[in-house]
Amino acid sequence: MQQIDTYRHKGLRKELRVQIQGKGISDRNVLNAIETVPRHLFFGNDTIFHETQAYEDKAFPIGEGQTISQPYTVAYQSQLLEVNPKEKILEIGTGSGYQAAVLATLGAKVFSIERHRKLYEKTKKLLTTLGYHNVKCYFGDGFEGLPTYAPFDKIIITAAVPEHPKKLLRQLAIGGQMVIPFEIETKCIMLRITKEGEDQYSTEEFDEFSFVPMLKGKVF
Ligand code: SAH
Repeated sequence: MQQIDTYRHKGLRKELRVQIQGKGISDRNVLNAIETVPRHLFFGNDTIFHETQAYEDKAFPIGEGQTISQPYTVAYQSQLLEVNPKEKILEIGTGSGYQAAVLATLGAKVFSIERHRKLYEKTKKLLTTLGYHNVKCYFGDGFEGLPTYAPFDKIIITAAVPEHPKKLLRQLAIGGQMVIPFEIETKCIMLRITKEGEDQYSTEEFDEFSFVPMLKGKVF
C-alpha cells in the first residue's frame, strides 16, 4: 500500500477542517486532529476510491459491509468526549481505525474492539504501520467491553446501540463519560452518559445520526 501523505492531501484536510467547523464543531483540538490524521490511508487495500473522496465529509464502505464514519460524525463524537491527554478510552467498533487515530492524536490511550476478525486484523496492522502506538486493538464483542483493563475514563461506541450497554457502564470510571448513538424507536440519537456514582447516571441528548448497527457476537 502506498502510504504517502502529500501537500495536496494536507490541503484537502484543511478544507475538510473548514467544512466541519462550518457545521458547528468548535473544539480546536478536535479540528487540529481532523487536519492531522491522513484519512485517505484508512480506506483499506481493496477499497476502490478516488483520493479526493477521502476528504469529502461522507461515510464510505470499507468492506465486510462496514463503513468508515463521516468526518463530521467522528469530530462530533470526539468533541462530546472532551478528551484529555493520557485518558484511557474504550472504543467499540474499530472499523477502519480512523476514529481511533483521531482519539490517539488527541493524546488518549485507546483500547478499541472490533467484532469482524478480518477488519480487526487489517486495522491493527495499519495502525501499527502508521505509528499509532497508543491504540491497542482487540477482537471481540463490544457488548462485553474489556473488563481486564477497566475502569475507562471515557467510552465511545461507533455503531447504533440497541439497548443499554450495562457491562460497559460498569467499566466506566466514576466521573467518566460515554458517548453513544442510541436507538430510540426509529431514530438514532447521540447520547452522553455521565457516571455520577456507582449506580448513578445522568444522560444528555444531542443530535440524530445514522450508524451501522451494533451487533452481538464475533464474526470469524
Ligand atoms: N470507528 C469506525 C466506525 C466503523 S463502523 C471508523 O472510524 O471507521 C462501526 C463498526 O462497529 C463496524 O466495523 C462494526 O463491525 C463494528 N461493530 C458492530 N457491533 C460491534 C460489537 N458488538 N463489537 C465490536 N464491534 C462492533
